[in-house]
Amino acid sequence: MSNNIFIYGEISENGLFADVVIELLGVANNLAAKLENAKITVVSPYDFKGDFSKNIEQLKEYGCDQLIVVDDTCLSYYTTEFFAPAVTAVIKEFAPSIVLIGATVQGRDLAPKISTALGTGLTADCTGLDINEKGQLAATRPTFGGNLMATILCSNMPQMATVRPNVFPKIKEEKNIQTELIKFNFDFSQIKNRVELCEIIPLPKLADVNLADAQIIVAGGRGMKTADGFQLIEKLAKLIGGSPAASRGAVDMKIAPSTIQVGQTGKTVAPKIYIACGISGAIQHTVGMSSADVIIAINNNPKAKIFEIADYAIVEDAFEILPKWIELIEKSNG
Ligand code: FAD
Repeated sequence: MSNNIFIYGEISENGLFADVVIELLGVANNLAAKLENAKITVVSPYDFKGDFSKNIEQLKEYGCDQLIVVDDTCLSYYTTEFFAPAVTAVIKEFAPSIVLIGATVQGRDLAPKISTALGTGLTADCTGLDINEKGQLAATRPTFGGNLMATILCSNMPQMATVRPNVFPKIKEEKNIQTELIKFNFDFSQIKNRVELCEIIPLPKLADVNLADAQIIVAGGRGMKTADGFQLIEKLAKLIGGSPAASRGAVDMKIAPSTIQVGQTGKTVAPKIYIACGISGAIQHTVGMSSADVIIAINNNPKAKIFEIADYAIVEDAFEILPKWIELIEKSNG
């Protein structure tokens, strides 16, 4: 067994690695510094059509020793049936000691299938990773509704963890290493595919936002009261070039779609500005947005917990503030 660290190389719609892969390279380099002779490898199944150049280019700056690709037409879109056995076969062949997977929709589906196939443990949804004095992966994640942080060790190999996107920064490595390319052949002919892609239906307009990359987010909570009230959130977001988001309170009331929920069971975001309107600031919400550079909170309760993390606190009725704000911007836009 090596000390090597594998990262699942999820590919985005644009054919490049998802941001979380680059974030995980930073994490892996920190872990590798505490292990002897640890190589960092990205494993990526995809229909590359033989062209890996832009993907290798993407990895070089971030300290990746190897890229192992499984290049096959079966992998043109994600299915558990094809992806899980392919990644499992690569892990079995190369026997790394640590496997990290982004806790994206794809990663959350894939990781438990792989860990079960390998007969090892999986610490899901981690927000911190370290190497302990015995050289084991110490994976930290929120538990008990976010009230406690648990550090979990895995006694089997490889030690697997899924890691939330947007929690770790992208760190460029000073040493510009050459990323070695390894092509791994996998026989898909024995796999019975039970999934066929018939059509891609884009999500409704409101949900068509990439919250993870948004620089400005305007979020509404239960305090926005109705779907009409939530429209103030969408309107302000649009006017200032931001994305709308919601607390679970708003999602549970069905005034906002679950696709834009921020928090423990929603998305983790790290915008430059996060404007929280009618959101109380429960830990399950703030765990997903507290790394925003500037937090502006509008709440009519001066004791709301959100004010404890807010840079600017507006103790007011959101239905007073938001229409005025929108009007001002509309006027200044001419
Ligand atoms: P509330 O807590 O009801 O707060 C509404 C706020 O609006 C209040 O502070 C009130 O003062 C204010 N308000 C009311 N009227 C106005 C007005 N006119 N103007 C201004 N302010 C007003 N929550 C999430 O958000 N994301 C998650 O991912 C998530 N995951 C969870 C996972 C678990 C396991 C559990 C147990 C809970 C989770 N929750 C999550 C729920 C979380 O605990 C809270 O219940 C939720 O965040 C509350 O949403 P809220 O702040 O919109 O509603």
